[in-house]
Amino acid sequence: MKRLEEFPRVSLGVFPTPIRRLDRISKLLHTNVYVKRDDLTGLGLGGNKTRKLEFLLADARAQGAQVVFTTGGAQSNHAMLTAAAAGRLGMRAILLLKKRGVTDCRGNLLLEKLMGTDVRLIDTDDYNEIYAEMDRVGRALGVPYYKIPCGGSNALGSLGYVACAREIHEQGQAFDYIVCAEGSGGTMAGLALGAKLYLPGTRVCGMMVDRAPFDEITPALMRGAAALLEAEVTIGPEDYLLRDACGPGYAVPSPEGNEAIACLAANEGIFLDPTYTGKAFAGLLAMAREGAFRPEDKVLFLHSGGAAGIFAAAL
Ligand SMILES: *Cc1c(COP(=O)(O)O)cnc(C)c1O
Repeated sequence: MKRLEEFPRVSLGVFPTPIRRLDRISKLLHTNVYVKRDDLTGLGLGGNKTRKLEFLLADARAQGAQVVFTTGGAQSNHAMLTAAAAGRLGMRAILLLKKRGVTDCRGNLLLEKLMGTDVRLIDTDDYNEIYAEMDRVGRALGVPYYKIPCGGSNALGSLGYVACAREIHEQGQAFDYIVCAEGSGGTMAGLALGAKLYLPGTRVCGMMVDRAPFDEITPALMRGAAALLEAEVTIGPEDYLLRDACGPGYAVPSPEGNEAIACLAANEGIFLDPTYTGKAFAGLLAMAREGAFRPEDKVLFLHSGGAAGIFAAAL
C-alpha cells in the first residue's frame, strides 16, 4: 500500500483539529459524545473541503493549471473554499454554480464577493452540462485549467478524509462510532475507508442530507480511493452505515435540524449549519433516542463546518 505522504499535497489547513468531549450533551444522551472540530480547519471560515483541496489543488498545480473550476449549489461551501484556497496558491478560481437556492449576496456568495471571485450562476440542474461549460470556458481562456467536481468528491479528494481517519488514530482515542454529514460523499467515503485502514472497531455513519444513491456512491468512492492507495481491501456494505437525515430536501432547513442547532449552540457554544451539520447532528440525536448507543460507547461527531450557511438560512 502507498503511504499518504507519497501523494502531492499543498498545506492549506491547521491540523490536527481538536477533539473534545461534549459533557453536557453526553449527559443528556446517556452516552459519550465527542466532537472533531473540522469547522476549525483554518482556511476561510473552516470546514471539511480544506482537507480534500490539499490533495486536489496539489494535483492541479502539478498539472500546471492556472485556472481552477468547480461547481455546486449557489451557497456551496466547497466552491467558496476552493476560491479561497486557489487565491492563496496564486491560481484563479471560476465557480459555475447552480442558480437554485439563495442567490442574493449573503453567506458564501458574500464571501466570494469579498474575495473578488469569478462566480457565474448557471440555470441548470444538470452537472454534466456544467462540466461541459467548464471545458468551453477553459478552452476559450487558452490557459491550462483543472476541473474539480461538485464537493471535491472524487477518489483523490476523498484521500483528505482517509488522512483525517489516520489523524483521529494518532490523536490516541478509540471511538465506537464516527458520525458525519454526507452530501456529495467524499467525506464519508474517506472516513469509512480510513476507519477500515486505521481505526479497527470504529463504525462510520453517514447522515444523508441529499437524495442521491449513496449506497452506490459511497462504496464507489471508497474503492476509488483504495485503488489510488493500492490498498488491498474489499469494500462491502458492512463497511459503512447510512441514514436518511435529509428532511424536506437538500438545503431546506428541517425542524429536527433546527432543534439540533439550538441544542448544540445552547449547551456547548458550537454552531452548526442548517444544510449539513445541523441535520447530521439531528440524526445522531435520533439514534441516541432510539437506543443505538450504549452508555459506555464513544461517539465522535465530525463538525464539517458550513458557518457561512447560517447567514444565508431562513431558519
Ligand atoms: C460539503 C459539506 C459536507 C458534506 O461533505 P461531502 O464530502 O460533500 O459529503 C458536510 N458539511 C459541510 C459543512 C459541507 O460543506
